[in-house]
Amino acid sequence: MGPPGAGKGTQAERLVDDFDLPYYATGDILRAAVNNGTELGKEVKEYMDRGELVPDDVICQVIMERLDSNEASDGFLLDGFPRTVPQVEALDDALDKRGRALTAALLVDVPDEEVIRRLSGRRICVKNQHVYHVEFDPPKEEGVCDQDGSRLIQRDDDKPETVQKRLDVYHEQTEPLIGRYEDRGLLRRFDGRRPPDEVHDHIRATLATLRLEAEL
Ligand code: ADP
Ligand code: ADP
Repeated sequence: MGPPGAGKGTQAERLVDDFDLPYYATGDILRAAVNNGTELGKEVKEYMDRGELVPDDVICQVIMERLDSNEASDGFLLDGFPRTVPQVEALDDALDKRGRALTAALLVDVPDEEVIRRLSGRRICVKNQHVYHVEFDPPKEEGVCDQDGSRLIQRDDDKPETVQKRLDVYHEQTEPLIGRYEDRGLLRRFDGRRPPDEVHDHIRATLATLRLEAEL
């Protein structure tokens, strides 16, 4: 969890390698659906362009299909879900029914002014949505993804007029979830203002400890 631009995707890319977990980023899934012109894509495009959340039932359906896939049977990493109270409740219900539970809710936090600096310089690759920043994490060759050679673009919703709307939505609809996870003892906070390697070290150490505890 964390505001737009906190570094969730940047960290997730690394954690997926560390822990060999399937990774479900709702924003990536929805953007791929829009680019491929699927029914889902047509349904969600306008919400995304406006910087609003897509309806809860639509996004819950997307996640539930993935929880039931074989690859997720040993665990998974969610990025960008849940983002509303109904989504938390749907996830809890779904996990309960399957006899499963969350290990942790990881919060990567940064202040609003940092969000604005980061999103204005964010670039993603067209092929796999790998993340860069023109100033803080530039690719070796300008405009080209280091990992797969595809072209780098700016997300439509990273334009300044939409960024403020997304921040408002985060504060109103998603931030209240933090207290819920805190009350349940699941919340782990990370200072997203630190450099990416440092944030990564902190999260990896926390997850390694949680994994050890789970095995005891
Ligand atoms: P960021 O990485 O900037 O936090 P995402 O890529 O996660 O943003 O999400 C982009 C957009 O996709 C959101 O603005 C919203 O329209 C939609 N979206 C992603 N996840 C959800 C969700 N859990 N519930 C509703 N809408 C979502
Ligand atoms: P989120 O998934 O939370 O929306 P991203 O991982 O896409 O965030 O990161 C947003 C932007 O900020 C990207 O351009 C990324 O390269 C950059 N970034 C990510 N983490 C850091 C960091 N710790 N310090 C500086 N810039 C960062």
